[in-house]
Amino acid sequence: MSFDCIIIGAGVIGSSIAYHLKRSMPDRKILLLDKNRTAGAGNTSKSAALYRNFFSSRTGRMLAGSSIKYYLELGDKVNLMPTGYLWLFSEEQWRASQKPIHQLDPEKDRFEIMDREGIMEILKINCDAKVPFPDIHAGIYCHLCGSISAMALAQHYVSEFISMGGEVSFDTEIREFILTGQDSRYAPWDNISISEVVDNKGNTYHGTQFVIATGAWTHDLLAPVGIASGVLPKKRQLFALNIKDPGQFLVDPGSARKPAIILPAGGVYIKLILDRNILVFGCADDLGQPFLMSDPEPDPLYFSKAIEPVISHYFPLLKDYELSLKWAGYYAYHWPDMNPVIESVANLTWVSGTSGSGIMKADAVGRIAAAKLLGYEEALLADGEKFKVSRLSLRNRDVEMEDLII
Ligand SMILES: Cc1cc2nc3c(=O)[nH]c(=O)nc-3n(C[C@H](O)[C@H](O)[C@H](O)COP(=O)(O)OP(=O)(O)OC[C@H]3O[C@@H](n4cnc5c(N)ncnc54)[C@H](O)[C@@H]3O)c2cc1C
Repeated sequence: MSFDCIIIGAGVIGSSIAYHLKRSMPDRKILLLDKNRTAGAGNTSKSAALYRNFFSSRTGRMLAGSSIKYYLELGDKVNLMPTGYLWLFSEEQWRASQKPIHQLDPEKDRFEIMDREGIMEILKINCDAKVPFPDIHAGIYCHLCGSISAMALAQHYVSEFISMGGEVSFDTEIREFILTGQDSRYAPWDNISISEVVDNKGNTYHGTQFVIATGAWTHDLLAPVGIASGVLPKKRQLFALNIKDPGQFLVDPGSARKPAIILPAGGVYIKLILDRNILVFGCADDLGQPFLMSDPEPDPLYFSKAIEPVISHYFPLLKDYELSLKWAGYYAYHWPDMNPVIESVANLTWVSGTSGSGIMKADAVGRIAAAKLLGYEEALLADGEKFKVSRLSLRNRDVEMEDLII
């Protein structure tokens, strides 16, 4: 059980790293392992799996934009649905968002600006304000956005990885890191690194390099070995409603325009799955929700207190619905700037902090992590852009604050 590289965590991020690393060094022995039975079964499977290229930071736009280019090539293989996003703004939010809006390139980023009338041609929506809900003043219809199957994406990377000779081990939970040197009494001058990891069945895996791609579990795994990963977990919840009549929500349910919607109140967003008459609601569950792996169950009270009032304000005609499904997962936040983290100590590299947009950025993050593990200074992204690897590190970080987190 000796490998050139051991990747712990087969979510969309670990799977993408495994694929890009193996592609670059086909002769090396690489092991991808996960405590679940299959790839993508952690928070990847809990996501709304929406993608967008609209971010306030250049970093966010580069990571998502290039990944989307790769996903568009995969198309049906990952169930890609280029439905678009309709991002709605109050008058105040519209004024405050002019900078990211002007940074968009209308040609390359494919978007259109809509006024109230344009929005009301698509949605049966109430645009008036009523405390605490702001007005709807304008919107951006982003066409390079939509949804994807997050599980299919993770499994695509893993099956390609296996077809190149990569090894996988599921049902394998890493419980312990064994450091080089003598037991735990290290002198500051000892050259410490990780020599092995131990799983729940007592098996040990020896590696030259270790990659921790454990998303929201990263802090719990690394803090005991003395590493501050900079990433913390926070619970997020999604609620699916069965609706009887899409005509209570959309002006023309037969039209091709069925975008994901971001409302101006509380970061509430809606994913439309109208072939099954389902609307999925998410919400920016922020202050008050602890940075902890606390209770993994969704809270029905949260639905009635935070989501239902938003529905009845903005969609007063939407009456016949029932809550059919609810689930919760964890974002892995890198709170200072909401961009991913790729950092190393000795022979251990952790890749996390995707801050709620890991599906849409996974291809770029996998390429950048692979470039770092290969010792390159730059990674080549799917759209041909180059990305300096150290920009996502903690010590030489060079990213802008991302404001458009939902
Ligand atoms: C409710 C919700 C909605 C979201 N919506 C979107 C969205 O619309 N678009 C988007 O881009 N992103 C979205 N996200 C974020 C997205 O899900 C994450 O950014 C992404 O899944 C992160 O991938 P990951 O591989 O880092 O983490 P994960 O998928 O969680 O993978 C980490 C893996 O590590 C494994 N693991 C952990 N500890 C160990 C251990 N000790 N030993 C072995 N294995 C271990 C876990 O089993 C897991 O499979 C959403 C997240 C949530 C919770």
